Amino acid sequence: MVCGESGLGKTTFVNTLFSTTVKNYADNRRRHAKQTDRTVEIELTKAELEERFFKVRLTVVDTPGFGDYVNNKDSWMPIIEFLDDQHESYMIQEQQPHRDGRIDMRVHACLYFIRPTGHTLKPLDVEVMKRLCTRVNLIPVIAKADTLSQHELQKFKERIRSVMDAQGIQVYCPPIEEDNPAAAEETKEIIASMPFSVIGSETDVETPDGRIVKGRQYLWGVAEVENEEHSDFKKLRNVLIRNSMLDLISNTEEKHYEAYRAQQMETRKF
Ligand code: GDP
Repeated sequence: MVCGESGLGKTTFVNTLFSTTVKNYADNRRRHAKQTDRTVEIELTKAELEERFFKVRLTVVDTPGFGDYVNNKDSWMPIIEFLDDQHESYMIQEQQPHRDGRIDMRVHACLYFIRPTGHTLKPLDVEVMKRLCTRVNLIPVIAKADTLSQHELQKFKERIRSVMDAQGIQVYCPPIEEDNPAAAEETKEIIASMPFSVIGSETDVETPDGRIVKGRQYLWGVAEVENEEHSDFKKLRNVLIRNSMLDLISNTEEKHYEAYRAQQMETRKF
C-alpha cells in the first residue's frame, strides 16, 4: 500500500517500481470504492512479478492523497478502515467451518510518503503514522529525493528518526540473518539508511556519460532512480520484493493480525 499527501509521487513510484518487473501492470486496474462523506477511493491493482524464477502475485493498493483540505482531521480514516476491514474479513473467514480457499487481502507493507521539506515531520504525518504502525508494517519514505541535497537529506532523515522515536512510531525493520555475514552486513546498511529516500520516474533519460537510465533530467544532469548515491530506491525494492518479502508476510500474520484479533476478542467479550 502507498499512502501520504497527494502529489508526492506515490503513483509514479509504484509505476517505476514495477515498470521493469511486472507484466500487464498498466491494464490490470480495479477500483475499490468505499462510501465516505468525501469521495476517497482506494484503487487496487493486481500484478504478477517474476523474481529469481519465482512467480509472485501481488496487489498494489494506491490510496488518494489526504491532507488536501483545510481541516484534515479524519481524511485518512478510509485508509485505516481499509486496513482493519482486511483483518476483519480474514478473521471471519477463519471462524468458518470450511477454511479452504480463504481470500486474504491483508496489507503486508505500507509505504508512507513524506514531503521532502528538509525540516521535520508534520503533525498530520505523526498522527497518521501512529495509527498505521499498529496495524501494518510501516515503511516511511522521503518522496522526491532529487529535490534535496545529500546533506539536507541526511539531516532530514535524522530529524525524522528522532521524531518517530519520541512519538513511539514503530517502523518495519528487516531481520538480520546472523548466520550469513554478507547478508547481515547488507541488511545493516539498509536499516542505517532508513527512512528510505526515493526518486520516481517512468521515463528513460540519457546520463552525461551516455547511459540510458530511469531518471529525471535537469540542467545540471540526471537524478537516477537506481543510483545509490541519488536515492535509496534499490534498497527499498530489495526490502519489498526480494529479501524481506516473506518476513513482511509473516510479520503481518504474527504481529499485526494477532494484535487485531486479540483486541477484537477483548472488546467482544463485553
Ligand atoms: P501522487 O498524487 O502521490 O500519486 O503523485 P503522482 O505520482 O501523481 O506525482 C505527482 C507529480 O510529482 C508528477 O508531476 C510527477 O511527475 C512528480 N514526481 C513524481 N515522483 C517524483 C520524484 O521522485 N521527483 C520529482 N522531482 N518529481 C516527482
